[in-house]
Amino acid sequence: MILRSETASPSPAAPLIDPFGRAISYIRVSVTDRCDFRCVYCMSEDMNFLPKRDLLTLEELDRLCSAFVARGTKKIRITGGEPLVRRDIMTLFHSLGRHLESGALEELTVTTNGSQLAKYAKELAACGVKRINVSLDTLDQDKFRSITRWGDLAKVLEGIDAAQQAGLSIKINAVALKGFNEDEAPQMIRWAHERGMDMTFIEVMPLGEIDDARVDQYLPLTQLRAQLLDHFTLEESSHKTGGPARYTRVKETGGLLGFITPLTHNFCEGCNRVRVTCTGTLYMCLGQEDAADLRAPLRASESNEPLFRAMEEAIARKPKGHDFVIDRTTRMPAVGRHMSVTGG
Ligand code: SAM
Ligand code: SF4
Repeated sequence: MILRSETASPSPAAPLIDPFGRAISYIRVSVTDRCDFRCVYCMSEDMNFLPKRDLLTLEELDRLCSAFVARGTKKIRITGGEPLVRRDIMTLFHSLGRHLESGALEELTVTTNGSQLAKYAKELAACGVKRINVSLDTLDQDKFRSITRWGDLAKVLEGIDAAQQAGLSIKINAVALKGFNEDEAPQMIRWAHERGMDMTFIEVMPLGEIDDARVDQYLPLTQLRAQLLDHFTLEESSHKTGGPARYTRVKETGGLLGFITPLTHNFCEGCNRVRVTCTGTLYMCLGQEDAADLRAPLRASESNEPLFRAMEEAIARKPKGHDFVIDRTTRMPAVGRHMSVTGG
């Protein structure tokens, strides 16, 4: 059994603990698989999205998130697809804000491509969101258009301005892509740090079929980090955000630089999180196929008991970690679903 409590019918307040003793305190909730961009490492150009009728309603998403909060979740990250393109998404932020006010939830945050931030930044701040992640892989307009297939960099930069004006702290996340942004990395770090934003690089992960070969995209962060040493002095930092990034402080800028290295240095040991999709499917690990359906127990009863049982059973199966491989001989993605299904 996964719960701290040894009783057959544990109190709903009992935290969810996995078989390796890791308490699940962080959920990432993908509220839509749709997006207004088609980043080449994330999606194929021609994506089949879920029919809208399969999606949990915003009320159901609120109930599901609240059930996790009741069972010890302290941090919720809303993601996607692009979360801010889901219609009426602000009602979910507003309703989840009550858990921040009560103190049950410590952080409500979002990962966004920034395209809708100019519209929503103020409202996000009003809902109690304090820090957000904005994904941005290049500062060059033409390169931005090619990596996102049709995104407009100016709109994202406008969104970042609006978010800073609204008082939101921003972390810029860039996927490190071979031959695409490695030369630009020092410039991006300086730009982010001058604006008071942290910056994190992510290794590309083999999730879902895309049009290009992963091996041609994959840039190990050990390599990028070595290249950055020609430009910066990287000092060890103990900074932690509850996520998988490991941080250094850049002496020349004073800013934080994070590395998310699922391939070169797997971060599963301290994993405290699970992912819920917009259809109510719970993935216990980003890099494994095993999943649990939470939509059926959610809809089966107005009581949360069936849902709690399903959550407990799922967490009892949380695996130790993923086993991502990117090389010339491994043709298949580690898992068939795209990052836009489970969210980043
Ligand atoms: N649309 C939002 C955005 O781009 O920030 C949220 C969802 S997106 C799937 C979350 C993060 O996953 C982004 O930072 C994106 O760059 C990253 N991502 C997508 N596919 C990836 C992959 N195959 N490997 C590594 N990171 C990936
Ligand atoms: Fe959309 Fe984010 Fe995937 Fe880019 S990374 S296609 S913005 S979901």
